[in-house]
Amino acid sequence: MVEAGNDLYIVDVGDGSVANIQRWGINLSNLKAVLITHLHSDHIADLPDLNLLSWVNRSREQNLTIFGPKGIGTTIKGFNQAYFLDHKFRNEHHGDEQAPLGVDEMVANTIEEEGVILSDNGLTITAFLVEHDPVTHAYGYRFDYKGRSIVISGDTAYSTNLINYAKDVDLLFHEAISYEMTDINTEAMTSFYETTNNDFYRFGAALFQHIEDYHTSFEEVAIVAKQSNAKKLIFYHVIPTPIKPVDGLMKNIMTEKVDQHHQDWLFAEEGLTIELPPNSDEIVMSNVSP
Ligand SMILES: [Zn+2]
Ligand SMILES: [Zn+2]
Repeated sequence: MVEAGNDLYIVDVGDGSVANIQRWGINLSNLKAVLITHLHSDHIADLPDLNLLSWVNRSREQNLTIFGPKGIGTTIKGFNQAYFLDHKFRNEHHGDEQAPLGVDEMVANTIEEEGVILSDNGLTITAFLVEHDPVTHAYGYRFDYKGRSIVISGDTAYSTNLINYAKDVDLLFHEAISYEMTDINTEAMTSFYETTNNDFYRFGAALFQHIEDYHTSFEEVAIVAKQSNAKKLIFYHVIPTPIKPVDGLMKNIMTEKVDQHHQDWLFAEEGLTIELPPNSDEIVMSNVSP
């Protein structure tokens, strides 16, 4: 979620994100648009709920714009179709003032090529291509506002294009995979398969091998941060997904090689809030979790 002045933008809407938005009491009246990095389910699953939440009771004057790569039109058309009756029932129940039809849908805005996709109230949003084959296209986003900047990687393997677009950025939010951790999982799955002959474990081992192809290792991310001269690096969308905040042994295993390339880094824990006061070097951190 990125707020610039009074305007709010959300990048990707995975499973559980709308529950967080409600828990943190985020006001969606100022939601200008949603930016989808790519069409994997873990980045779009909660879109219909976000749309509903920003529609009913919100005096929204237009449909919700969803930026995304080629294919976003098909996805949004499908969601609108699936929720057509839900919206009709809510309109009949709550009335035109509270749940007005005509502004209840999502509208896809397909990003055809990289470059500036939006420029509004002093904020510039730039989309750039990243490496997530066979998912084409996959984008990362850069936000520039009053001398401050943020880059969000989306899902990507090591990307020189991202390094170019992230030059001198204040905050680099980058996904990361721990080969050390996924290798442990692969070995465990393989040995379970050998003793049980159960295909579930064979597929599990293969899955961990496949996902290693299209993500960036912690060490590579640190190199990306160094090469782009990013001020602060924030690891997010970490694989394997930690079930609680990353600390202790797990943190040591994942980030063992990070410091030798980039020293200013942290994990994005739920509720992490980072403020970048305009035209300064300040980075102010807090947490909105209750
Ligand atoms: Zn993902
Ligand atoms: Zn993905």
